[in-house]
Amino acid sequence: MPEGHTIHRLARDVADRFAGHPLDASSPQGKFADGAALLDGTALTVTEAHGKHLFLGFGPVGWVHIHLGLYGTFRFGEGPPPEPVGQVRLRLATRPDEPAVAGVPGPLHYADLRGPTRCELLTGPEKQAVSDRLGPDPLRPASDPRAAWERISRSRTSIAALLMDQKVVAGVGNVYRAEVLFRHGIDPYRAGRDLTREEWDALWADLVALMRDGVRKNRIDTVRDEHTPEAMGRPPRVDDHGGEVYVYRRAGQPCLVCGSPVATAELAARNLFWCPGCQRG
Ligand SMILES: [Zn+2]
Repeated sequence: MPEGHTIHRLARDVADRFAGHPLDASSPQGKFADGAALLDGTALTVTEAHGKHLFLGFGPVGWVHIHLGLYGTFRFGEGPPPEPVGQVRLRLATRPDEPAVAGVPGPLHYADLRGPTRCELLTGPEKQAVSDRLGPDPLRPASDPRAAWERISRSRTSIAALLMDQKVVAGVGNVYRAEVLFRHGIDPYRAGRDLTREEWDALWADLVALMRDGVRKNRIDTVRDEHTPEAMGRPPRVDDHGGEVYVYRRAGQPCLVCGSPVATAELAARNLFWCPGCQRG
């Protein structure tokens, strides 16, 4: 499951390639054929992300709402689009006759969406309704962390589960929740209502900084300067998620700060990672 920074990055990448151009839209697989027919020939005007939800604005036609879920992918290509491979729900492509700068045709771009849990056309109010069901997103500048605090401070649920609940905070996934709790020395099983306001404000500020960094670099790094491989003289981490982290998928390995073995347990159907030495109740 991609974390929120991936979706914000995707919103930016889609806008960079397609915004302002009338696009060819199609659904080679057929499942979004009606929607694609309405979009075909329309210009993409704006893109937005809220948590793990991506919205592509097509002016008066409305918004394409995309949720990748566990298996969805949205991949880009350059040049004339090839024959679609696999189950392409939505293909967007720039047009060959589209002039870029001073009459010179721009490079052709296309993007293929496969396997999303959601790909639907929404009106403005319908899009707003999706957003209204989500908690504040650390990557949206207008987000108000007080809305999350109101839920957290009244909840007996663990802070680890609350951080993953998209109605409470939108966009935080398994990596950021494990890492941000580690960075603040908070036991993941502490109830939300046992957090102090100061602790929440610090967690939120840190999520904003870490996730912005994730959008910029397109990977998740959470270790402080003194714990990088260079600073500690240790080999870099090898993991298909990339990035330097404290506890995520490091079960049984020594904590980079105190040396205790990193612990793991299942919580709300996802693997939780933490350091029992650094994160006490
Ligand atoms: Zn530790």
